[in-house]
Parts: sequence; C-alpha cells; structure tokens
Amino acid sequence: METAIHDTMPLSDRFGRVATDLRVSLTDRCNLRCSYCMPAEGLNWMPTPEVLTDDEVVRLITIAVTRLGVDQIRFTGGEPLIRRGFTDIVARTARLRPRPRIAVTTNGLGLDKVASGLARAGLDRVNVSLDTVRRETFLAITRRDRLDDVLTGLAAAAEAGLTPVKINAVLLRGHNEDQAPELLRWCLSHGYDLRFIEQMPLDAQHGWSRDTMVTAHEIFTSLEREFELTENPEERGSAPAELFLVDGGPATVGVIASVTRPFCGDCDRVRLTADGQIRNCLFAREESDLRQALRSGASDVEIARRWRAAMWTKRPGHGIDDESFLQPVRPMSAIGG
Ligand code: SAM
Ligand code: SF4
Repeated sequence: METAIHDTMPLSDRFGRVATDLRVSLTDRCNLRCSYCMPAEGLNWMPTPEVLTDDEVVRLITIAVTRLGVDQIRFTGGEPLIRRGFTDIVARTARLRPRPRIAVTTNGLGLDKVASGLARAGLDRVNVSLDTVRRETFLAITRRDRLDDVLTGLAAAAEAGLTPVKINAVLLRGHNEDQAPELLRWCLSHGYDLRFIEQMPLDAQHGWSRDTMVTAHEIFTSLEREFELTENPEERGSAPAELFLVDGGPATVGVIASVTRPFCGDCDRVRLTADGQIRNCLFAREESDLRQALRSGASDVEIARRWRAAMWTKRPGHGIDDESFLQPVRPMSAIGG
C-alpha cells in the first residue's frame, strides 16, 4: 500500500529539477505545413483509436494537477484548435483545484471564432506562432496563404482578454532571417510580446543543420541595429526566453536559444503526447506509455507512480552538441512544442 505522502510527491528527477509545467498535445494534425516542422505532403497521422479521448486527457491532467504538483497546463499539438472538444477540455481543466494556469500554443487559424469562448471557459493566455508579417514569406514558410487569418485571430485573442498575447517566431535562412526588426516593430505597434525561437532539429524531414540555423547571437545583432536592448531586471527563473527591454521598456523581446544557450538545468517541463505517452524532454528518445495504463484499468495512484518514474530518468541535457546526438523519432508536431 502506498502512503498518502507518496500520493502527492512531485515530478522530480535525479538532478533536482521538478516539473510543474505540463504540455499537453491534443492532436498531431495541422492545417499548416511549416517547413521547419512538417513536409509539404503532411505526415501519417495517428490513427484515431490511438489518440486519447477527451475524458482520458482530462483524467491525466487531473492526476498531474491534484497528485503531481503541476500548476501550469499548456495545450499544443499539431494544431490544438482543430481538436473538436478543445473548449470543453479547457473548461474541465479550469474547474480543477488547485486551479492551474491554462495556456495554448496555436498557429492562430480559426482563433477569431473561438477566442472569446475559450476565455469564458477559463483559458488564461495564448501564444500564437507567426514568423513574418509579409504575405509571400508566410506562404513560402507555411505553404498556405493564411496570413490574414492569423492576424484576425491575434486581434480576437487580444479583444477576448487573453493577454499578454505572445508571438513565437522562428527565423529561417533564405526566408525571413532579415525580418526580425520588422516583426518586432509590428508586434510593438500591436501590443504583442515577441519571442524568437532558435530552430531545433525536430522536423520530420531531418532538414535541420547547425551550420545554417539562425542563432540567437545573429538575432540580437540584427535587432540591435534598430533597437536598444537592455537586460530585463526581472528574474528569469525557469522561463526559457532571455528577455530584454526594448528602448528602455516596458516592452520586451525574448530569444529562446534552445540550441546555442540551452537552459536544460532549469527545465520544469513534462510533455504528454496526443497518444498518451509521457516524454520527460522534447529531445527524449524514450517514452512512457500512460495510455496502456489508463486502458488497462490502472488506478490514479498507479498512473501517478508511473509518471514519477518516467520523470526520474530525465537526462541532464538535450545533448544536441554531442557527437552521439540522435534526433528523436517523433517530429515536433507529434510531440507537442
Ligand atoms: N501548431 C501550433 C503552433 O504552430 O503554434 C502548436 C504546435 S507547434 C509544434 C509549437 C511551436 O513549435 C511553434 O511555435 C512552432 O513555431 C515551434 N516549432 C515547430 N518546429 C520547430 C523547430 N524545428 N524548431 C523550433 N521551433 C519549432
Ligand atoms: Fe503546424 Fe505548428 Fe508545425 Fe506549423 S509549427 S506545421 S502550425 S504544428
């Protein structure tokens, strides 16, 4: 018999880190085809019976929040807004006590139609991925002519109070590597918080190369040609973005330098894939199957025990720079970014 104390132990690993931020992927499907994420023809999507049902997702989130100390839930994918039961999953998550913070990372398509309903259901914030404000560059990167839909979605999110609205941008050589200042100017004028993310080796096509990726250093250099960036006095904590005040503040810009300045030592994340696998790192090569446990009648106590065991084996770092580094088998869209 496990004791009550064991029942509430957090998600610790051997290196003293504790995961409190759960990223829940709701689908591996997507309505864009960003070239740093997916091939033009898409991927073989997960068969529906393998994808967790809404009830299964909510049960795992409940275990995480009530037994494992998770206090932040971020829904992602694939594209989470194409999951039919999304608003209801958010509402059920918002009813949990202690009430977790609830956010979503989305490409913004269709956000205009659901933003106010999501806010009412209890969603606190959105991150919208937007790499450019030029229509032709958007089409070239995402392979879809949908820039206007994303911009409408962003405006609706702000209107619905899902603030501060954050924007995630990836810079790609040959596409938008010279557009960082333009994107920042546009975000400042609309009141959106911009974060650049270094491109990581997580695309299904294995097209990433260290030699051609746009580095954080390059991003700062190009921003500093037009803006004065000064260190943000606020503590960074476990936040992956290095934040800088723009022209004295209060506006900030961030760079998430996952490759060139990894922050693995402060990582507080754990991931649940749409087919019910726990990944203790974006770059993990091993997963722990909670779907099988759920479907074979395991109790909440047993599932929590397996989840803790999965976290305990988290590696100290992603090792992208090690000679032995191997890209995970799952691409970003099937892990949940
Ligand atoms: N479809 C949603 C979206 O695009 O926001 C959520 C899923 S997407 C996988 C989550 C985030 O991962 C996005 O901000 C996207 O730009 C980022 N991303 C995807 N592939 C990436 C890569 N190879 N390197 C860095 N970021 C990547
Ligand atoms: Fe879809 Fe997001 Fe991947 Fe782009 S980054 S293809 S929007 S999952």
